[in-house]
Parts: sequence; structure tokens; C-alpha cells
Amino acid sequence: MIDLHLHIDGSFRPQTIYELAKEMNISLPADSVEGLLPFIQVPEDCRSLEEYLERFTLPLQVIRTPAAVERVTYELLIDLAAQGLDQAELRFAPKSCAGTADQKEIVEAAIRGLNRGIQETGMKAGLILCAMRGNSFEDNMETLLLVKEYLGKGVIAFDIAGAEIVFKTHLYADLFAKARALGVPYTIHAGEGDGPESIKAALDFGAKRLGHGIRVYEDPELMKRVRDEKIVLEVCPISNLHTKVVDDMKDYPLRKLFDYGILVTINTDNMTMSNTNLKKEYEFIKKHYHFTDEEIKQMNETAYRASFIK
Ligand SMILES: [Zn+2]
Repeated sequence: MIDLHLHIDGSFRPQTIYELAKEMNISLPADSVEGLLPFIQVPEDCRSLEEYLERFTLPLQVIRTPAAVERVTYELLIDLAAQGLDQAELRFAPKSCAGTADQKEIVEAAIRGLNRGIQETGMKAGLILCAMRGNSFEDNMETLLLVKEYLGKGVIAFDIAGAEIVFKTHLYADLFAKARALGVPYTIHAGEGDGPESIKAALDFGAKRLGHGIRVYEDPELMKRVRDEKIVLEVCPISNLHTKVVDDMKDYPLRKLFDYGILVTINTDNMTMSNTNLKKEYEFIKKHYHFTDEEIKQMNETAYRASFIK
């Protein structure tokens, strides 16, 4: 099993959040790990993206030192191996975790954690470094140059995450032109918070993979383009349910996109916030969208082929 779309800062152990907060003297809303869960996991009936994003507040307060980044990256690989995964692409935004350190120190810490995890588990894994929508051009360029510097040394690709509807994808043309010039592989979060225009911009930048991309269904012409250009969608069903990509999950277009011939893969996005894992995602789409084991196997094979890990 393989996960192509998994955020480190959305996927670490509640116990670790608790311990790091204690070490850092951060006041907690509850004095037990169980008590913390409502503050870091979305409720099953999550009503809005805001309610979802609130759950990042506490994790992002504690993942702000190189030591914390190394620890959570390592622990995540241990957890994924225990769940039966043999390959994973872990992503995070170094700037968001930098605290008083610089991005380079944070990336090196994540690589240390990654290498320890790979050694212990035998998994294949790599890091995708995310620029952030809303960050300065300089900060995002710094992230991109770190991808270039550490490519093949733990880092596998570049991405941009954050508030897609506020900071539109087309604003980042220069950043991705630079990524292309540097020969850095990338994926782009597009078609989650924003619609077809965002996806078109990402494709015009030359992206061959899209984070989510699910809102391609709103534009039949674009669906055809995505299919014909063999663009791979990193779909995260339970996260999409929580962030209200569609108003009603019975209208969720996963089955439609798959049957149309678009290359769909299934991923978790944020295991802690969404209280999910890859097996849960598979069960979810079997139950609600009647995917068969054979179809899930096919999506897994698509993901292996599309992986930035070679
Ligand atoms: Zn994501």
C-alpha cells in the first residue's frame, strides 16, 4: 500500500502532541491525551473548513523545532509501516514549522527522522516540501531551493498548500516557472477549496499530479483534458468529506471520475485531524461508492507508477 498525499503536521500521534506541549510549557485545553482529542480531531459531522482548520492550531504550536520535526517524521513512518504501507510520500511546509530555526535546519531534521524511519521499517519514503499560499515569494523560493538542494537526498518533490480560494493558483506562475527551470518535480494542491480555474492554472504550470483535483468534475472539458493528459489525482476522501468539498457526500464525484478514466489515487491527507488511515479510506469508498477490491488495487498501482520515489 502506498500513500501519495499525507501531511506530517496533520498526521502525528496525539500522545506526541501532548508530550511536546508539556516539554515546551504550552498550556493545553485538557490535561490528558484523551481530553485533547476533541481539539485535534474533527467531529464526524464537521460542518466547515474553518472547523477543520481549527484542529491544526495545537499541532502547529508544538511542531516548531528541529527536534520535534525529526521525532514526528520518524514516528509517522513507524506508524505507517505498522498499518501495512510499504511506500509513502510525506509532505510538510518547512516555513510553518520553522519557529526560530530556519527552513534548512527544519528540512535537515525531517530528513534525519525520515532516514531513521526508513532504516527501521524498510519502507520506501520521501519528503515533499510545501510552499504556502500567502507566504512571501522569498519564503516560497527558499522552500523551492531546498527541494533542489536535497533532491534525491530524502526530498522528492515540491508542492504548494494553503488557502486556495484566497491565494489563487495563477498567482504562483513565477514560482512554478522557476521549479520547471530547476528541473524539480512537483505536485500542486488544486481543485479542493477552489474550482476548475485553479486546476487549469496548475496544468498550465506543467503539473502532472494534483493534490485533490476533485473539483475537476465541475467542468466537462477539463475532465477530458485531465484524462487525456493522464494527470494523476491525489484524492483524500475522508478529508474531502470534512472540508466540505461537496455539500452532500452522496454527490462526491470519485466514482464518476474513476469510471470516466481519470487516474485517481486514494490517500489520507491528515490522519490525526480526520482520524483516518489508508485502510479506513478504502473501507469508506467501498461502502459509500461501491469500489471493489480489484478497483482499489488498480488505484494503488496507479499511485506506485505516479510516485516521485524512483
Ligand atoms: Zn493536502
